[in-house]
Order: sequence, then C-alpha cells, then structure tokens
Amino acid sequence: MQKYICSTCGVQYPESSTAPSQCPICEEERQYVPVEGQAWTTHEALVESGNYRNVITKEEEGLYSITTTPKFGIGQTAYLIVQNGFTILWDCLTYLDQETVEFIQSKGGIDAIALSHPHYYSRQVDWAETFDAPVYIHQDDQEWVMEPSEHIQFWNGEEKELPGGITLHRLGGHFKGGAVLHWKNGDHGSGVLLTGDIIQVVQDTDWVSFMYSYPNLIPLPANKVQQMAEKVEPLEFSKLYNAFHNVVEKEAARAVQRSADRYIKALNGQWFIT
Ligand SMILES: [Zn+2]
Ligand SMILES: [Zn+2]
Repeated sequence: MQKYICSTCGVQYPESSTAPSQCPICEEERQYVPVEGQAWTTHEALVESGNYRNVITKEEEGLYSITTTPKFGIGQTAYLIVQNGFTILWDCLTYLDQETVEFIQSKGGIDAIALSHPHYYSRQVDWAETFDAPVYIHQDDQEWVMEPSEHIQFWNGEEKELPGGITLHRLGGHFKGGAVLHWKNGDHGSGVLLTGDIIQVVQDTDWVSFMYSYPNLIPLPANKVQQMAEKVEPLEFSKLYNAFHNVVEKEAARAVQRSADRYIKALNGQWFIT
C-alpha cells in the first residue's frame, strides 16, 4: 500500500495498492494532463531521489516563504507566518524533508494550516499529522479533497477569523471556495494579503489578475471580478504575495482595485480596440 502523488499537480491520494486511474484535479479544465499522460510518484521516491530540497526565505518580519527546488508539480510557494506564538502555514507543498521540519519546529511548529484552493492541497494531511495542526479549507471546495483526514476543518460563510489578526476571506473566482489570507500585522502593521492563485500577481508587479483557469487561459466573468474586488476593498494591506513568489511591493490594495477595473473594462470591450 502506498500513498500515490499526481506528478502534475502534486496532490496526494489515500493509501492504495495500485495508482489511481486518474487525478480528478488534473482532468478538469482548470488543470491539464500532460501530453505524455498521467504520471504518479510517492513521497518516499521524491526523498530517495535526493533531487529535491525546500528553499526557505525570510520575506519580511514574521513571514517566511517555502519553495521546493527543482520545481515539483505546479511549483507553488507556501508561506509561514510566525508571530505572537501563533504560527500558520498558508498553502502547502508536496515535499517535506527533515530539514524543513526542523526549521519549522525551531519557529515553534505550526498551529494551523490554511489553503487557498485545491491546486495546493498537495500533502496537506501529512503536514497536518507531522505538526498536529488543523487544516482550514472552505466548505465549497470539499469535493476536491482527495485524501480525507480528521485534521481537515471545513469553514463556511465569507470569512473566518483566526488568532493573531489573521482572517481568511472567501473570494471565490478561480474556485468556488477560493480563499485569501489577510494578515493585519504584516508589513510592519500596514497589512499583507496572501492570495494563492485567487488573485494573481502578473509580470508587471504593480498589477494583478483573476482567472478561472491559468494554464488554459479561461477568464472569469466581469461581475465575479467585481464581487472579488468589492470583498477585498475594506481590507487594509500594502503588500500582496501570490503562490509563485511574486509580490506587489507597495499600495497593493489600490493595485487590486485598479487591476479589477482594467480587467472588467477589457472584458467589456472598453479598454482597447484591436
Ligand atoms: Zn493532478
Ligand atoms: Zn490554481
């Protein structure tokens, strides 16, 4: 019996004697199955390969990024907020080695794990077991949890308040339960928004974007983007970090509103003529 991991999205499945027939997360239009076909691996194989390690970077006071190198699966970055004795992991990674465990334990362990959306569920259950932490996932994405666990706590409604000035907000969009994390004390009290793929930092990092599918370039409806911008509007934050280690460095709250406005005008044919 092994826990198989989809090599494309990095999501782990419950123990089975043979690999699952397919990965529902990758079969769906927001992801893809590579032309070479569905491939599976296991965490033991990743560790034994000796190919991987996690790079941990201090981004600012109380905030660390964790990224697996070389890239595995979608290649996301997870974030660890460490403050006032309450440590939270935002989004998750497939790869977890002893060095990473020791670093996190040196920061007091993990009190909670919260996920933006199913593309980063990765090995959340094993991380939760390692650190004995609850995993907060929005109820609207329950169907995408491939590996059930007593550690997973589904939340509902539009927001969930956690200790340390941290609040999860459901914005929807990319996924129905798509969530962002607002950290009031981040950036020396100016506020930080961690967004996963729910709000995406683009190449021009003064701007963000919003998509239903990033790999397949399917946009969101204008009214949905409007709703997302309205939900973020009351939040104060100067910095915004996405899932790919990209950052809106200043006046990020304004950048979200400006970007939503541009996106809606583009969809409605009011931004450019080509
Ligand atoms: Zn997959
Ligand atoms: Zn995604």
